[in-house]
Parts: sequence; structure tokens; C-alpha cells
Amino acid sequence: MRCQICNHHTRPILSKEQNVSCGDYFTGQRIYADNRGTITLSECESCGFATFDALNAWSEETFRKEIYNEDYHLCDPPFGEARPRKICNWLSSFMPRCEIIDYGGGEGQLAAMLNQNGFTARSYDPFYGDAFVPGQSAEVVTAFEVVEHVPQQRRLFGELAALCKQNGVMIFSTLLKPRHLSQDWWYASARNGHVSFHTQESLAYLMQELDLGFISLSDEIHLAVHDKDRLTDIKKWPHILINEWPPYKFCHEWDRLDNIKAENS
Ligand SMILES: [Zn+2]
Repeated sequence: MRCQICNHHTRPILSKEQNVSCGDYFTGQRIYADNRGTITLSECESCGFATFDALNAWSEETFRKEIYNEDYHLCDPPFGEARPRKICNWLSSFMPRCEIIDYGGGEGQLAAMLNQNGFTARSYDPFYGDAFVPGQSAEVVTAFEVVEHVPQQRRLFGELAALCKQNGVMIFSTLLKPRHLSQDWWYASARNGHVSFHTQESLAYLMQELDLGFISLSDEIHLAVHDKDRLTDIKKWPHILINEWPPYKFCHEWDRLDNIKAENS
């Protein structure tokens, strides 16, 4: 297989049960107990971009049935209220009030909170059926914990760039993986719908190809702009922690978890 970002060779690095979720690493137990088979994480030998190849071939309908179903919320509790609240408070703390398109905004919680704080925000999410008018754009385009859910990365970033005005900013979060993953990683869990995992190098490659200025505020928060002169200003923006570090890791296949802190003490 070839890397969808840089076209170099990929190789399999991890076999993992499809029904393992990120939430397992926070709760210390399998949230979805049944074994639905094993899938393989492949990693690019050059840029380090990683993906679950099998899920890239899924249709939207299969994603809705297998992942974004009535049990989806169980694996990602902050999805509903806590995460959008935290992000809204962060943006409100430093950003002048402006137009925002929240891409992949779920049921629109973040957009609603931003509107209450004086922004003019709209949400668009292909899996939640919001009406969307192509051709619209905004000064700020956000995509929090969206990138890792999208199989086709070029198309995603092309859409984000098209939605963002020439003097605007794209703000997106996704947890960066190390260039080479030598062991299991909680973030690479397919039950959450996580399929695409960037490194600093793979993101930089894609941004350069799209002629976007790009900077990471942390290993989770990334900013992209059409007008590269804006980087000087936006790199001073404050950071925010999106994901806590999970206290558990799998210690025996995919059925038993150990508390990391207890193990280290
Ligand atoms: Zn690559």
C-alpha cells in the first residue's frame, strides 16, 4: 500500500480489535465487549502517517451502522457537553467576535455555545445531517477532533481551506502520533471512528501542498492560514488541553487493562 499523504510505502505496525475504544483506556474496561474481528494499523515509512486501511474502504452507511450508531456516545463522553464548553471558553478568551464555521460539529453544541458568547457560528457535520450551503465561507473554520475521523485527508483539508476566507484561520485539533509507533496507542482505536493519524511531518507535507501556512500550538492544536503573514500573530494564541492522558493500558491481548499509575508506583 502507498501512503495517501506522501505516496511512500506503508507497512503494518499494529493489529487491534475493531471494537476497542479510546474510552476503554480511561475506564479500565472494555466498553464494547464483543470481538468484531481484528484490523491492522499501517504506517508510512517516510512521513509516519498511519491509517486503518480496512476502514478506509467502508461506505458512509457502514460507518453509521458500525461506529456512529446509538451506542457511539458511550466511548466518548466529553463529546456531548464538556468538550464544546471547554473549547468555547478557550476561543472566547482571546478571539475577537467573528464568523465561525464549525466543521464536523456533531449536533451543533459548540456553534450554539459560541453564538451565546457573541460569535456568529454555524455547524456542519456530514454525520448529523445539518443543512449546508456550499460556497459559503467564514473568517474562522474550526474542526475539533475531526481530522482523525476522516479517511480521505486531501479532500478534508481541501474543503476546510475552501470554507476559510483568504484572511481567515483554520483551527483544528488532532493528537499527533510519533513518527514511528512502537507499541499500542490509545488514540488509535477504531470504535471511536478514528481512522487517520497524522505526524508533524505528514501534516506539514499536506499543508505545504495546499499552499497553507501552518503552525502547531501543541501536539493537539494546529492552525492553518492562506495568508502566511498571519502566522506571526496567531502563534501567540494560548494553548488548550483537549485530551487528558488515559490511566490504563492493555496488558493482555485486548481483554485486560492495567492501571499505569498503580503499575509504576
Ligand atoms: Zn507518507
